[in-house]
Amino acid sequence: MVTFNEILRAHRIDPAQVALLRHSGKGPLGFTPYDLWRREDGSFDRYQSTQAPDKPLFESPYWASFVSNPANETLFIGFYGTTKGDRAEIDWLCPMTGIPPGEDKGRPSDLYRLVPLDALSEYRGSLKIAWDDGWIAWARYARRSDHTVLGEVDTRPIASFEASPEGEETWRAQRAVERDLRLRKAALSKNSGEHDGQYACEACNFEHADRAMFDVHHPHPLLTGPRMTRVSDLVVLCPVCHRRAHRSVNRMLPYSVAELRTWNEAGRP
Ligand SMILES: [Zn+2]
Ligand SMILES: [Zn+2]
Repeated sequence: MVTFNEILRAHRIDPAQVALLRHSGKGPLGFTPYDLWRREDGSFDRYQSTQAPDKPLFESPYWASFVSNPANETLFIGFYGTTKGDRAEIDWLCPMTGIPPGEDKGRPSDLYRLVPLDALSEYRGSLKIAWDDGWIAWARYARRSDHTVLGEVDTRPIASFEASPEGEETWRAQRAVERDLRLRKAALSKNSGEHDGQYACEACNFEHADRAMFDVHHPHPLLTGPRMTRVSDLVVLCPVCHRRAHRSVNRMLPYSVAELRTWNEAGRP
């Protein structure tokens, strides 16, 4: 029995960063989210890009989206990188209700920018999971709620990741953050404050008094771009650990500090 979180991990995606959304029900115009998705004209993504305001769950960096199909099965339909947008940009009517998003609830919706990712694309429109109907929440943290996958699925780690144009853009955004001199300086002084005036690699503990021996790394590339980068988002690494971080098969998902530590403890195989 395979679970959805096992599939995420096999693709080197941390379930702690993923929100699961299961869209169901029929809107006042007579369509279901499944109908919108079947149209393939972008109306489904537009529909799910607006959400009830101020819900931290939706600020998860990744969304795995599902729709309820006519057989009431929970069908996987896409994996997205998400960042919060500006609700002032919403200038369309909700494809499900025909009115401005959120108007029926009396509160304007938040806007999220969704970048469809190549990860899990082989499962789009085919993978089904069990979604216990006894619990009504349609949106959940993956880390709190692992779902059984129905049917045969290969969870061997993927060997390669096909970079998408969005991937290139994200990569550039990440490099820009890492080269920002003010962020670099702030991250390094925070690091030396924690190490008696020395600088230390957060993955292998290499210490040195010369701060030019260290790099500043942004571990969550999907959080770059429209969102402000905080110094607390950054990690100080020695050049070897930094190079290693970016040698992961999925360039959108560098090795985490925990993975780098494991790699160091194993003698850097
Ligand atoms: Zn290191
Ligand atoms: Zn880096």
